[in-house]
Amino acid sequence: MKHNGLFRDSLILEILERYRTLWSLSHAQSLLGWDMETYMPPMGVQERGLASQGLSMLYQRLLLDPEFIELVEKAGSREGLNDHERGVVRVLKRSIDRYRKLPPELVGEIAKTRVEAQDAWKRAREKDDFTSFQPYLEKVFTLARQVAEHLGYEDEPYDALLDYYEEGFTTRDVERMFDSIIPTLKRVLDKLMSDPQPSYPKEHPLEETAYEVREAEAANRRLLDLLGYPWDRARLDVSAHPFTVSVGVRDVRITTRYEGRDVKRTLYATIHEFGHALYELQVDERLIATPLQGGVSLGVHESQSRFWENIVGRSRPAALRIAELVNEAIPSLGGVDGEDFYRYVNTVRPSLIRVEADEVTYNFHILIRFRLERMLLNGEVKVSELPELWNNMMEELLGVRPKTYREGVLQDIHWSGGLIGYFPTYTIGNVVSAQILEVMKSELGEPGELMARGQASRVAAWLRDKIHRHGSTYSPPELLEKSLGSPMDPEPYKRYITTKYTRG
Ligand code: MG
Repeated sequence: MKHNGLFRDSLILEILERYRTLWSLSHAQSLLGWDMETYMPPMGVQERGLASQGLSMLYQRLLLDPEFIELVEKAGSREGLNDHERGVVRVLKRSIDRYRKLPPELVGEIAKTRVEAQDAWKRAREKDDFTSFQPYLEKVFTLARQVAEHLGYEDEPYDALLDYYEEGFTTRDVERMFDSIIPTLKRVLDKLMSDPQPSYPKEHPLEETAYEVREAEAANRRLLDLLGYPWDRARLDVSAHPFTVSVGVRDVRITTRYEGRDVKRTLYATIHEFGHALYELQVDERLIATPLQGGVSLGVHESQSRFWENIVGRSRPAALRIAELVNEAIPSLGGVDGEDFYRYVNTVRPSLIRVEADEVTYNFHILIRFRLERMLLNGEVKVSELPELWNNMMEELLGVRPKTYREGVLQDIHWSGGLIGYFPTYTIGNVVSAQILEVMKSELGEPGELMARGQASRVAAWLRDKIHRHGSTYSPPELLEKSLGSPMDPEPYKRYITTKYTRG
C-alpha cells in the first residue's frame, strides 16, 4: 500500500512497513472477537481463549522488537514531521510504553481471563447467580490493579486504566464532568417526575407490545438504508450484546438483538452501532494498515454512536420518519402514530438497566459504575460487597432497587471482559455529542431534520470532514479543538437536555 500524500518521511515509511505485521494480527484478532460473539459454537470458548492469549503475547513481542522501538524513538526526535507522521509516532509510543511496562505473562493472563470470565458471566447472568461469577470478577480486578501498578499513576490507580480508553483524561476530569452535569440531570428528572402530565411519559404501551422478529429485521435494514449504511463494506448480524467491530476500513460489522417486544430497543441499538460503524468506515483510506486507522478514543467513538442514536434518532423529525418506516416494515405492531412514537422513544423514568436507560437517567448508571470501580481499585471495598453496594447506590441516586443480580451487578458485559476504567467514556460521549450538535446546527442545520428528509449523507459528510477522516491522527483534546473549536465542555450537553426535556 502506498502512503503518498500523507506520509513522506523515510523513517516513518519504514515504521509503517514494519507495522504491517502488527496490523495483520489486530485484523485477525478483530475477526476472532466478532466471531466469538456471533457464530462460534459455545464449546469453542476454551480454545479461543488459548488462541487469543497466544496472539496477544505475539503482538507484544513484535511491538517490543528493539529495532522497531529504536525506529519509533528516532522518529520521535525528528523535526519537520507532518500531522499524520506525528500521529503515527504518538500512537506507537503510547502502545510501546504500555506494553513495555506490562510483563508478557500478565498480558497473556489478561487475554485468557477475559475469555473465561466472559463465559462465566454469561452463565452466572442466566442463572442469576453472583457467587459463581465472584471468583472471576475478583481475578479481573486483581489483574486490573496489577496493570495500574505496572503502568504507574500520579493520583490513583484509576488514572492509569482510564488513560488507555481516553487518552489524556484523568479521574479528576471525570469527577469534574459528573459534578457539572449531575445536578442539572437531577433537576430535569425531578421536574419530569413531579409533573402530573409530563411531555415525556414514564411508560408507553409499545414497551410491552410484541413484534415479529422477521419484520423487525427488515425494518433495521431499511433504517440502515435511510442512514446510508454501505452494505458492500459492512454487515449487520445478531449478538447477545450489540457491538461494532472494525475489521478494516472496508469491512465494518455491527450487531443488534431482538427481544420480541419493545421494538425501539432493537431499532435504536442498530442506530447506535451505526454511529460507531460510520466513524470507522469514514476514516481516510490512506490510513489503512497504519496505527492511525481506527477511531481515536472510546469517548470520541461513543460521541458518534450517541449522536446518531439520541440527538438524531430521538429528535422529533427523525422519530416521525422512523414511525413511517415502522408502519411499512412491521405490520405486526398494528400501526403507530408518529407523535405517539416520538413519545414512546423518549419515555423518561428511573430504571434498573443501563442500556435501556433514557437520556435523562443514563449518566446516573455510569456514575455508579465509576464510583464502584474506583473503590474496588483503591481497595476500599471487596468484590463480595458489590451487589449490596450497587443496589444501595441505585436507590440513593435513582430511587429504584434491583431485586435480582441480573438487573443489578450482573447486567453489564464490561467487567467480565476486563474493561475497567471504560464506563466514563459513555458520559464523555454524551457530552461531546451535544458539542457536535451545536457546531453542526450553526454550519449545516438540524441533523434530525436532515435525516428525516433523506439527507443523512450530508450529516455523515460533515462528520467525516470534521472528525472521522482523521482516524487517530490527533489526540482527543487536539481533535476537539481542531474540529469543534473548543475543549470538552459539558455546557452544550446541559443545554441540550434542559431544552429538550423541560421546554420540549
Ligand atoms: Mg457504544
